[in-house]
Amino acid sequence: MKTTDNFRSGFVSIVGSPNVGKSTLINVLVGRKISAVSEKPNTTRNRILGIKNLSGAQLIFLDTPGIHRAAKGSLGKGMVQASMAALGEADVIILMIDVKFPFNRQDLYVIQKLPKPAILVFNKIDLIKKSMILSLINQSQQFHDKFLEVLPISALQADGIDDLIQTTVKYLPIGPKYFPEDMITDRPERFLISELIREKVFNLTREEIPYRTAVVVDEFYEDDEKNLIKIYAVIYVERENHKGIIIGKNGQTLKKIGSFARVDIEKIFGTKVFLKLWVKVKERWTDRADLIGEFGYSR
Ligand code: GDP
Ligand code: MG
Repeated sequence: MKTTDNFRSGFVSIVGSPNVGKSTLINVLVGRKISAVSEKPNTTRNRILGIKNLSGAQLIFLDTPGIHRAAKGSLGKGMVQASMAALGEADVIILMIDVKFPFNRQDLYVIQKLPKPAILVFNKIDLIKKSMILSLINQSQQFHDKFLEVLPISALQADGIDDLIQTTVKYLPIGPKYFPEDMITDRPERFLISELIREKVFNLTREEIPYRTAVVVDEFYEDDEKNLIKIYAVIYVERENHKGIIIGKNGQTLKKIGSFARVDIEKIFGTKVFLKLWVKVKERWTDRADLIGEFGYSR
């Protein structure tokens, strides 16, 4: 690792309440989908690392599960702990707030947990009028000692992202290039694939089902003869009746999960993908630290 005089680098943790748009932001920052996004809270289960290289800096972003007080079960508690750890590791903290639900109780809880001042990002500005943004910035003044800067963005529309990157670089310490330029995440391909599949489960099922589902890629290899990637993955649920719901009437739901995931995976690898999914029951896995770890989630 070479440190030049003014190269900047470090960890930038993206934290906030559930569902504010943290994973959407890390995907747009690194320019590739590395983190699952859904309209449901608590989609992200791990700290996901995403790297952005500039000519004079390397930003190592950490997407995190939403921080909230009411974490339930071993899985839920492990998720919040992963976020707290990411706060401790951070050279710079980006605290994200949803402009539609600003400074709610969960936001106040996260603000109170900040170990040092953060860059405050108001996300989803595409949903509100410009005048509202000003009033939110004014409201943030009451926490002036908690924030270094305040920036409005829309992660979904990639609006304000360059500003956010430039602002973040200002607060990074002088440091080396920790990761090679071609690396954008520390997660293995198998994990990224399992997350894309899990994202579809989040988008296509309701109530407690997505929260009781894990996805594990069993086999992943390139079939050179046929010029495609073959993937065999298992969707784990907690109960027999959940299995039926994931499969759906005439297998329709599982078919949709598979075909939506396949399209995303093909985009990432730029090649045809054969994806085979199984659904299996692992009773009470969300309460078993051994299984949570085995499935690849924070515990
Ligand atoms: P996380 O739980 O904080 O990681 O949030 P996600 O990234 O999973 O996003 C939660 C929901 O908010 C998803 O439905 C996203 O599409 C949506 N979302 C994220 N950013 C924006 C934004 O800038 N504008 C709008 N309108 N929706 C957004
Ligand atoms: Mg997320």
